[in-house]
Amino acid sequence: MSTRTLVTGAAGFLGSHLVDRLLSKGHEVIGMDNFITGDRTNLDHISDPKFTLVEHDVTEEIRIEGPLDYILHFASPASPIDYLELPIQTLKVGSLGTHKTLGLAKAKNATYLLASTSEVYGDPLVHPQREDYWGNVNPIGPRGVYDEAKRFAEAMGVAYRRYHGVDVKIVRIFNTYGPRMRIRDGRAIPAFISQCLSDEPLTVFGKGDQTRSFCFVSDLVTGICKLLLSEHQGPVNIGNPAEMTILQLASTIKTLTESNSPIEYKDLPEDDPKVRQPDIGLAQSLLDWSPEVGLENGLAETIAYFRQKLA
Ligand code: NAD
Ligand code: UDP
Repeated sequence: MSTRTLVTGAAGFLGSHLVDRLLSKGHEVIGMDNFITGDRTNLDHISDPKFTLVEHDVTEEIRIEGPLDYILHFASPASPIDYLELPIQTLKVGSLGTHKTLGLAKAKNATYLLASTSEVYGDPLVHPQREDYWGNVNPIGPRGVYDEAKRFAEAMGVAYRRYHGVDVKIVRIFNTYGPRMRIRDGRAIPAFISQCLSDEPLTVFGKGDQTRSFCFVSDLVTGICKLLLSEHQGPVNIGNPAEMTILQLASTIKTLTESNSPIEYKDLPEDDPKVRQPDIGLAQSLLDWSPEVGLENGLAETIAYFRQKLA
């Protein structure tokens, strides 16, 4: 019998790429989503009979007939604009949704993988960020709804590991990009690409001297699959350590799209982290994983996707 896997958030950017990869490895995949920030069309290309899509809010009780080998919990708004608009839903999916999916993992004796985030480090005082750093998070700031939900989710996952013996793995994902991000989801890369392709000004927040490190989606999915199959549980950082300022990112995207759009400076959102770069030493040594796709190649593929979407 083939391996049977549940992916929550399957219609989202990362969830849909994970579904593709798991199907290509022969898994039977159940995708679950309530489409709050995801899009059904991200899964339209799949004709594999081993895939089923279930519309369900994972903060409500989840019922799945038959065995499950793996549960990958990826449901959650992820763009700062989304979680500012959906603060309660974000807190609920990180807390209640994590509880429900962990309960299911316990009942089915399934291996569980939680999509955590570099946001657990908040506005970091340690740079680059290693897994043993506890973070600097404002619980009552606008980003607190996401950061604290994910920190709670990690704590809940580790409690199920310790007290119920569930095989719980945690990946801390750093800024990841690629095809199937929503054009207007507000994150820097889709924002700048769609602005360049529509001859609109590039909205750089603050002075643009804050830094991020961007990972292409195929590299991330490979890292997650390696963690899933390893004996390690994490938390493990997965991301690309190539750090740059947001202004450098904007100018690279302008060059690659051959755009003449001007830069328009906007207010820096509250609690926007000043720096972010993963220390990936653990993923390199435990999982033998390193990112392989450079920024220009990853951006070229993403720009081609957005061109097609905007055509
Ligand atoms: P996304 O918004 O594209 O996908 C999230 C999906 O979860 C959507 O399809 C949405 O409809 C679904 N969802 C939300 N609440 C739900 C609920 N209650 N029940 C069922 N489905 C629900 O975002 P993404 O970028 O693909 O992120 C996926 C996961 O990875 C999230 O958990 C996010 O926190 C994590 N992550 C992403 C990044 C990144 O750079 N993309 C970085 C760190 C962490
Ligand atoms: N950013 C920006 N202009 C935009 C969108 C984002 O300057 O239109 C900045 C944002 O302030 C942050 C960085 O780009 O410093 C990355 O933002 P994103 O929303 O992609 O993810 P974050 O890392 O903040 O979760």
